[in-house]
Amino acid sequence: MNKTQFNINQLVRENVLGLMPYSSARDEYVSDGSEMIFLDANENPFENGVNRYPDPQQRNLKAVLAQQKSVSVQNILLGNGSDEVLDLLFRAFCEPKIDNIITLPPTYGMYKVLANINNIQNREVLLTESFEPNVKTILEAVNSNTKIIFLCSPNNPTGNSFSEERITQVLDRFDGLVVIDEAYIDFSDKESWIEKIKTYPNLIVTQTLSKAYGLAGIRLGVCYASEEIIAILNKIKPPYNVNELTQKRALERVMDFDKVNTEVSNILEERKKLITTLSQISFVEKIYETDANFILVKVDDADKRYDQLLQKGIVIRNRSTQPLCENTLRFTVGTPAENNALEKILKQL
Ligand SMILES: *Cc1c(COP(=O)(O)O)cnc(C)c1O
Repeated sequence: MNKTQFNINQLVRENVLGLMPYSSARDEYVSDGSEMIFLDANENPFENGVNRYPDPQQRNLKAVLAQQKSVSVQNILLGNGSDEVLDLLFRAFCEPKIDNIITLPPTYGMYKVLANINNIQNREVLLTESFEPNVKTILEAVNSNTKIIFLCSPNNPTGNSFSEERITQVLDRFDGLVVIDEAYIDFSDKESWIEKIKTYPNLIVTQTLSKAYGLAGIRLGVCYASEEIIAILNKIKPPYNVNELTQKRALERVMDFDKVNTEVSNILEERKKLITTLSQISFVEKIYETDANFILVKVDDADKRYDQLLQKGIVIRNRSTQPLCENTLRFTVGTPAENNALEKILKQL
């Protein structure tokens, strides 16, 4: 459709459209930096670093992210991991028992889980044999209640990025929302789709500090979209969904850009070595292209090889139950020492 006619309000659930969000103490009085006495939120007044409620809008962290990604603060929503961000999308746009979403297996399992939790039909359209979105079939699966199409690129568990052309076709031809999950974008040399949120009012890009940024334990997911979409999500998010410790730690890390880059370079170097190693293993039948910090391989007997590695103290992921992934194993790239240990064991099997 002509995206100049796009009206987000037609996609929002009716109850969300009319919702008045909870107004927290920290929403009603925003500090301008002057010395004030805060007696508004029933906190314990004795300082211990976290006795105050956190900033519900995470201003400091968003300011840095906005600058790094060349977007406005109003284009950003932060959540307790991407999982919370994705759940907010369901709750804002998908009417239980009525609406549906489209996902493209083999892919990240949470889309389906969240669809089930929110009682939303999940229409599955398999990727092609080369793990690309099948645009024609996707568009055939769309009906007037299809609210969101989830594209995971680079895709988990396959590792590849989807072709720009196919993603563009979906964005152009689908009138609902398109979520591009970029959890692994920092390991890829492809451009992020973030800058395209200015072009496509139906585009939502999600990223996370759980992978390249090495902060899976603090739970921080990021959503980039139009101001209108972010405003809707802000209405329904829990006021203090990103805690103070997470905000602090995330801020330190995103400002330490060089360190993150160095670690990512190391991981990419190790990925290259691990691909070479795997290519020398007799029971490895195929190594799939990867733009992520993991490698999917097809082996002779995935269950057997998985158990053998487990016996030797190495835990990988057996992805064989996923469609198009028969007899596949997924290896996350570890430290040089971990990868050396893995290499030694693989060569013994
Ligand atoms: C790991 C992963 C995430 C991360 O989720 P968080 O909740 O932010 O830790 C998101 N999407 C995909 C595809 C992933 O593999």
